[in-house]
Amino acid sequence: MNIGFIGLGIMGSPMAANLVKAGHAVTGYDVSADRVEQLAGLGGKGAAGVVDAVAGADVVITMLPDSPQVEEVAPLVVEYGKPNLLYIDMSTIKPETSRKVARQAAAAGVRALDAPVSGGERGAIDGTLSIMVGGDAEDVAAAGPVLGSLGTTVVHVGPAGAGQTVKAANQLVVGGVYGLVSEAIVLLEASGVDPVAGLDVLAAGLAGSRILELKRHTMVKREFAPGFRIDLHHKDMGIAVAAAREAGVSLPLTGQVAQLMAAARAQGHGSLDHSALLKVIERLNG
Ligand code: NAD
Repeated sequence: MNIGFIGLGIMGSPMAANLVKAGHAVTGYDVSADRVEQLAGLGGKGAAGVVDAVAGADVVITMLPDSPQVEEVAPLVVEYGKPNLLYIDMSTIKPETSRKVARQAAAAGVRALDAPVSGGERGAIDGTLSIMVGGDAEDVAAAGPVLGSLGTTVVHVGPAGAGQTVKAANQLVVGGVYGLVSEAIVLLEASGVDPVAGLDVLAAGLAGSRILELKRHTMVKREFAPGFRIDLHHKDMGIAVAAAREAGVSLPLTGQVAQLMAAARAQGHGSLDHSALLKVIERLNG
């Protein structure tokens, strides 16, 4: 298939590379020229702009930072995409933006899906992402072979926007777990208990999680190279808080985690990995 891929960052670049490996002809664009060059080195083709990446594509994928970038790029995809194009936005954005994009696409005869992902850079490189898809069942089925090259779990969770709502739920759980693992480390260290031994036991019991499995040692060593940046998780907590307001529910822990992410940014840690929430909990304790 001819695939246009827009947004070749930490996630987009390895995802585009996996599509090349799966035998697709991938034409990629990013505002950063270095990123475009990198794709050419991986067997894809660099595009001069969004319109160039979309021209002739059977499928267009966007993997952009936030809603404003998708709002800027999606109208071009819809306008310049060929009839019956399958447009899959895999960025994490507001559910209402995904619904708006789906309406614009439908009006132009383009099939649109929101398909945000979980699994991080490692999952993007290994092609083992979890993908939560919102949209029409037929379009999700049509996207199956392409999504199957990017992830191992692909679940149709509901109509347009539902993928983003599930991603918001994912992000509030991930943020909450990072916050509590940070509190566990601060407690163990302040009590004179070796945090590595302590977290090793936690990881093997009911408190175990992928976060403890993958990140406990780097957190104890205070290694916070991203991965997933605090700036992006702060954005996602804002999406979760807004989704809760729209649904008319109270999520008190989500509110607290959103405030901790805001503190991490305010303290200048926006470009560190989200596990750097530990720095905020430490600072609360002198
Ligand atoms: P990133 O900042 O590394 O990549 C985004 C890319 O989009 C950048 O290369 C940027 O130059 C490009 N870009 C921005 N505006 C553009 C435009 N108008 N046209 C073309 N390119 C443009 O971010 P990322 O970590 O790859 O994340 C991308 C999305 O995936 C975000 O929504 C994020 O929340 C989500 N996500 C990230 C992770 C992760 O672990 N990094 C995990 C799951 C989901």
